[in-house]
Amino acid sequence: MFDYLIVGAGFAGSVLAERLASQLHKSVLIIDKRPHIAGNAFDHYNEDGILVHRYGPHIFHTNSKEVFDYLSQFTAWRPYEHRVLASVDGQLVPMPINLDTINKLYGLSLTSFEVEDFFKSVAEDVSPVRTSEDVVVSKVGRELYEKFFRNYTRKHWGMDPSELDKSVTSRVPVRSNRDDRYFTDTFQAMPLHGYTSMFEKLLAHPNIKIMLNTDYHEILDLIPFREMIYTGPVDEYFGFCFGKLPYRSLEFKHETLDAPVHLPAAVVNYPNEHAYTRITEFKYLTGQQHPKTSVVYEYPKAEGDPYYPVPRPENAAIYNQYKKLADATPGVHFVGRLATYKYYNMDQVVAQALTLFKKLAGQEQALPVLDGALAEHNGHRLKAEAVELRVSLNGDSKIT
Ligand SMILES: Cc1cc2nc3c(=O)[nH]c(=O)nc-3n(C[C@H](O)[C@H](O)[C@H](O)COP(=O)(O)OP(=O)(O)OC[C@H]3O[C@@H](n4cnc5c(N)ncnc54)[C@H](O)[C@@H]3O)c2cc1C
Repeated sequence: MFDYLIVGAGFAGSVLAERLASQLHKSVLIIDKRPHIAGNAFDHYNEDGILVHRYGPHIFHTNSKEVFDYLSQFTAWRPYEHRVLASVDGQLVPMPINLDTINKLYGLSLTSFEVEDFFKSVAEDVSPVRTSEDVVVSKVGRELYEKFFRNYTRKHWGMDPSELDKSVTSRVPVRSNRDDRYFTDTFQAMPLHGYTSMFEKLLAHPNIKIMLNTDYHEILDLIPFREMIYTGPVDEYFGFCFGKLPYRSLEFKHETLDAPVHLPAAVVNYPNEHAYTRITEFKYLTGQQHPKTSVVYEYPKAEGDPYYPVPRPENAAIYNQYKKLADATPGVHFVGRLATYKYYNMDQVVAQALTLFKKLAGQEQALPVLDGALAEHNGHRLKAEAVELRVSLNGDSKIT
């Protein structure tokens, strides 16, 4: 009998497997229907010996010291700051839009102060801000919206920004300085030997058994377990009883080129040309030296593997119905991006998994203390202390 069956060997499942095995000495069976661990973060050496990310570029960045310190137990890091260019009006310009983007695009030589005035002069007064279009237009005006955002969003989501909720583009990072880093988080680094190597170390504990190429339905009645941690799609778990939750998918076209470098930056976005949204060159991310180079093209599509939950109010309403069922299902914990129908970055999923672990550990610790206290019949003080401890442990476990 396993203490835990964990469905999905991505960040959510693997972090929980590691914590439960190493900290609570639980026996864990972790399974994945794919032929590999690491979920969407899976990377591998291709036939030419170049390290590539099968499911598109994964760049690690976080402001959470707790998450960074936790993962640092399982990997060394390669410092890496991500940079992206956008192909607009026949030029490659920094993305997010910064001082250099504006100067290059319009052949100007504005200063930081002047570019702030420029943004103010082009921004439209939109009130109330309801859609993604409103968010962008109210910040950078219609022309930059058309050049950088509109068609990219249409390709990515298959919908016009005017049809998408403002939360999709809640903030447009526009910079009046020359900072051309894509992320500004405190910790920005790539696992030195890749993500899969990090996951191998996460899952190396002797209490963890791994089963790949296995859908959990195949083993549910065959392998006994006490509790389940489920990181797959929540609608699938409940047999799509409230309907299918819509996702946007991607097709990845990988290519190896007979040249050491192909692009002038790790990623080039194509808002207006081509069916693909962007090209990524992996050697920028990994730092690998190799006479050839590998790139991936991303083609957005409606059908296929579930990648991006479609953020529309009607979908949130369906998810809420599933969430109620999930909350009322004893012995099953729903965690990760598919089980909570939310686009999360890797660090957010690690944080979510660590939070669930604290809750599970808190329940384990609090109950024996409380039982012990009651058994001793040792007056009100001890009982009160035990209850207080349980409350504070549960208080810690609020999922953010
Ligand atoms: C194109 C793309 C680029 C991204 N880039 C970044 C980035 O640069 N930085 C960043 O921080 N984040 C990025 N992300 C987000 C990142 O991929 C997620 O945060 C992370 O993968 C979530 O981990 P997870 O464990 O919740 O889900 P997953 O990694 O998807 O793991 C879930 C696992 O469950 C398995 N599973 C599902 N159903 C079943 C079943 N019935 N039986 C058995 N197994 C099942 C799946 O096969 C999968 O392996 C990107 C995502 C995408 C799509």
